[in-house]
Amino acid sequence: MSIAPIDPIYIIIIGVLILTLAAFTFLVIKSKAKSRQKEKEEFVRNFEQKRQQQFPDTGNADAAGAAASSAADGRPKITINKTKDAASGIKETSSLPAPKREVTASSSAESRWSKIQYPPTFIHDAEKYFPIPLSDWWRESQVSDIFIHDACAARIDEFVFNDNNLLLNMRNAEIPEIGGFLLGKAEKNQHTGKYQVSLERFVNIESEDFGVYQISFGSKAWSKLEKQTGYYEDEGYKLMGWFHTHPGHGLFLSRPDQNIHQTWFKEPYHIAMELDSLQSDNNPHFQTGFFTWKNQGVLNNAEGKKTDWLRWTDVRRWYKHGA
Ligand SMILES: [Zn+2]
Repeated sequence: MSIAPIDPIYIIIIGVLILTLAAFTFLVIKSKAKSRQKEKEEFVRNFEQKRQQQFPDTGNADAAGAAASSAADGRPKITINKTKDAASGIKETSSLPAPKREVTASSSAESRWSKIQYPPTFIHDAEKYFPIPLSDWWRESQVSDIFIHDACAARIDEFVFNDNNLLLNMRNAEIPEIGGFLLGKAEKNQHTGKYQVSLERFVNIESEDFGVYQISFGSKAWSKLEKQTGYYEDEGYKLMGWFHTHPGHGLFLSRPDQNIHQTWFKEPYHIAMELDSLQSDNNPHFQTGFFTWKNQGVLNNAEGKKTDWLRWTDVRRWYKHGA
C-alpha cells in the first residue's frame, strides 16, 4: 500500500490555521495583560487619592502643589530630613506644611522639629505644635515624643497663671495643686515602636478637687471630661494623660500621683505632665516635666532624669510669638 502524496494545498491551509490560532492566542494574552495593567493603575490612583485625603501633606504631586502655593504666599517651606532608616537603608524626606509664622533658622520651634527623627503622620500643621523629644530626660520610655498644640499650651497657661492667679499669691499659706485632663492623639511609630503623643486640648478640673499636696479626680471631673471628649470625638481626640501643678515643691511623681497614674492612666501612651507654678530663684522659668511609662508597670520618675526640665517660659514665648 502506498501513501498518497499530500496535496500542498492542505499543508498551506493547516499552516494558515496554526498561524491564525497562534496570533489569536497572542492577542488574548496581550489584552488580558493590558487590562491587568489598567486595573493596577486604577488601584494605585485610588490608593493615592485616599492617602492624599488622609494625609494631605505627604506625597509627591500635592507636595509640589503645596510648595508652589507656599512660594506664592511668600512663606517658607520646612523640610525635615530624616536620618537613614536602619531597616530599609532608604533615606526618607518628609515635607511639612508651610508655617504661617515667620520662621528663621535659629527659631527654637524649627530646631526642635529637626530633632524629631520621624514626624508622626497625624500632625499636618507643624507650626501649631511645640515638639518635645522625651529622650532628653528618659533613657527608656513608651512615649518618644510629645507635641503640644498651641491651643492646649495657651489654655494651660491661662488656667494656671490667670484663672488661678490668686492661688499663686498666697505666699503665707500652702498653695493647692491644680490640674486637669489632656486630650489628644497617640500613634505608635512604625520605625521605633514607641508612641508619639499630641496634646490638643486641656480640660481643667474644678477647685473642689484641689488639695495642697495632691489633686483628685472627683465624679464632677470625670463627667466634665466625658462631655468634652464627646465634644471632640469628631476630631479623634482621646484621653492622653493628666496635668497638675507642683507649686514650689519641684517636679516628681509623689505616692498619690503614682496611684492616680496607675489607676486611671494605664495605657502605654498615657503621660503625666507637671508644672512648678511658683516662681523663685530656683524656679525662674517654671519648670515643666512629662512622666511616662518606662515599660510594663514601671513609671519614669525624677531620680532617673537625664537633663533639666522644659522651661514653660519657652513654650509661652513660642505660642505667643511663634519663636
Ligand atoms: Zn503631684
